[in-house]
Amino acid sequence: MDTPFCSSSVHTPSISLHDAPPDNCQSEPDLSNASYRNRLIHRHRRHYEAARNLYAALDDHGHSGIYWRFMDCRRSAHFCVDPSDGRVFVAANSCHLRYCPLCSQARKLAIEANTAAWLSQAAYPKLLTLTLKHTTEPLKDQLTRLYQSFTKLRRQLLFSTNVTGGIWFFQVKRSPSGSTWHPHLHCFVAGNWLPQKALSAAWHKVTGDSYILDIKMIRSVKTAAAYVARYATTACNITELSVEHAMTVAESLYRRRLCGTFGECRKRRLTARPDRQPRDCIRLVSFSELKAMAATSQLAGLVWYSWLHNQPIDTSLDFTTLKFQDPQPLLSPRADKPKQLYFY
Ligand SMILES: [Zn+2]
Repeated sequence: MDTPFCSSSVHTPSISLHDAPPDNCQSEPDLSNASYRNRLIHRHRRHYEAARNLYAALDDHGHSGIYWRFMDCRRSAHFCVDPSDGRVFVAANSCHLRYCPLCSQARKLAIEANTAAWLSQAAYPKLLTLTLKHTTEPLKDQLTRLYQSFTKLRRQLLFSTNVTGGIWFFQVKRSPSGSTWHPHLHCFVAGNWLPQKALSAAWHKVTGDSYILDIKMIRSVKTAAAYVARYATTACNITELSVEHAMTVAESLYRRRLCGTFGECRKRRLTARPDRQPRDCIRLVSFSELKAMAATSQLAGLVWYSWLHNQPIDTSLDFTTLKFQDPQPLLSPRADKPKQLYFY
């Protein structure tokens, strides 16, 4: 580990060859024997390393146990078959931490899909970006001011009479010089035309010192939703920040919502995903057990192939020999549950 925050032996996990994270690998590693967790880590290597350094630092600064919670994410995994459509998937434990790339990916995709679904039927959707004048104020204070100003803007006559609803996303960047934070809001709004000059004046009125904003019509719903939802779960790209600055972001955003809805969108759940009831799925043996069995069992090999190639399996097959025997409750295949989300 190459950061001062990770040098402590407290945060040096016992890594087996089988489980070694691929962070320092320069060449493409062989994943054929990798655990489920390491397969996922491989897809998000840079983000994973940045998050690991962040949680080690937070753990050292009073958030005891958060590092190991992160390091335990997706370690317990088993195969499942959905008898309704033959889909083979892996259900695993989740850490529910905000900056965990293994947990945030599914949430980000859900937010992106739900945003695109609303945009595709919204009246004249536009992308409004609201910024604050650059200051050296602590990020936490700027964030409070930005959120309060946005609430006030929505009450302004110009806004309330012309906008029927929308979805907002908070994002923050570090200035190129590295000396100040640039918090801003991206908002998708539906409704009538909004003259930029009048809107800018209204924004200045509610902030007292800021008037810069941008508003443009949306031409591609898919592109716009993907662009704005990039950091919907983290507000920034932590791989671009030092550990110290990532900690500032994590502390400042603690217990803060990073996206939300208003007006006609108020009742929409941005993180809603198609529910797959775990109790209705056939729970099979663990990820590593099935992988080992695939060499000798035709059925295990078929399940493995179906999962690897994202192809449905014949649900009339008898899965008895692969069924998990432990009577403990089935792990949820959902990557996260909002009520359990940790705000770090
Ligand atoms: Zn996680």
